[in-house]
Amino acid sequence: MRGIFAALVLAGLGIGAARAHEGSDGPLRVVATIQPVHSLAAAVMEGAGAPQLLVKGAASEHTFSLRPSDARTLSGAEIVIRVSRNLESFLDRPIHSLSQDAKIVTLAELPGIALLPARVSGTFEPHVHDAQEEAGHGHDEGVYDPHLWLSPANAAVIADHLAAVFGAARPQQAALFTANAEKLKARLAGLDADLRPRLAALAGRDFIVFHDAYQYFEAHFGIHAAGSITLGPQNQPGAARLTAIRARIARSRSPCVFAEPQFEPKLVQTVIEGTDARTGTLDGLGAALEPGPELYFQLLTKLTESLEGCLK
Ligand SMILES: [Zn+2]
Repeated sequence: MRGIFAALVLAGLGIGAARAHEGSDGPLRVVATIQPVHSLAAAVMEGAGAPQLLVKGAASEHTFSLRPSDARTLSGAEIVIRVSRNLESFLDRPIHSLSQDAKIVTLAELPGIALLPARVSGTFEPHVHDAQEEAGHGHDEGVYDPHLWLSPANAAVIADHLAAVFGAARPQQAALFTANAEKLKARLAGLDADLRPRLAALAGRDFIVFHDAYQYFEAHFGIHAAGSITLGPQNQPGAARLTAIRARIARSRSPCVFAEPQFEPKLVQTVIEGTDARTGTLDGLGAALEPGPELYFQLLTKLTESLEGCLK
C-alpha cells in the first residue's frame, strides 16, 4: 500500500494537468465514502454518469480499511465526498495522494449543514465513564455528532451543494445537476411528510440503540433514544455501562433494544437477557440496500419501519 501511495504522490504533479484536461468532457469522476451519501450524489448526477462507492454492504465507516482497488478508484477521482474529517479515518493517508486537481467535499463543513453536539453519555443520563470506554471512543469528533446524513434537512443542503460542485467541474451539465437537485429536494420533502406522522406516533417510546448514530433522525422527527449500548462502535462497553443500560430497560414500560447489521448482535442479547425488552435492527447505512439514487429514501423508510415494528 505504501508503495502505491508513494507512486501516486510522485505521479501527482505530472499527470494532474493531463487528467484535468481529459476529464473535463468525459463523465464526471465522483467517489463517495458511504452509501447514503453516495445515494444523494447518484441522484444529483443522474443522466451524467454514476458516482463510485467505497464502504459497501455491511461494512462500517468506523472500521473500514481501504483495499488497493479503492486506492486506484480514489486516485482517479475528480471529486471525493466524505462526511467529516474524523469519521472516515481510512481516508486520512490516501487523501494526500490524490491528484492535486481532486476536490474534497467534507459535508460537515458545508454552510447550512446543521450539526448536533455529540452526546457524551451513552445512556444520556448522568453516567460514570470508565477508562476502557474513554480509550476506545469511536466518535472522537468531541464537538459534533458525525452522523449528519440521517436528517433529510441536511440531505437537501447536500443536494444543493453537490449540484454546485458538480456544475463547476462540468459547466456544460450544470443545468442538469441543478434540475436533479431540485427534483431530489422535492422528493425529500415528500418523504419527510410521509414519515413525520408515523414517527410522531412513536414519540415518548423508550428505545436503546446499539451505537449513538441516530440523533439527527431523532431530532428531525421528534423521537428520542433512551441510551446506546456503546459510545463508539469500536469499543466494548464496560460492566458499569451494561448495568446502567439494563437498569434503564427495567425502568421503561415497553422497551426495545436495536442491533445494527454492521456489528455483532451478541452484545444486544447480553443486554436484554432476563428483561422483557423486544429487539429490532436499525441500519443507518443501508447494508442490505442496493446502492443508487433510491437508497436514501429506502434507508429512512426502513428506519421508520424498524422503529414501528418494535415500538408499536
Ligand atoms: Zn457511527
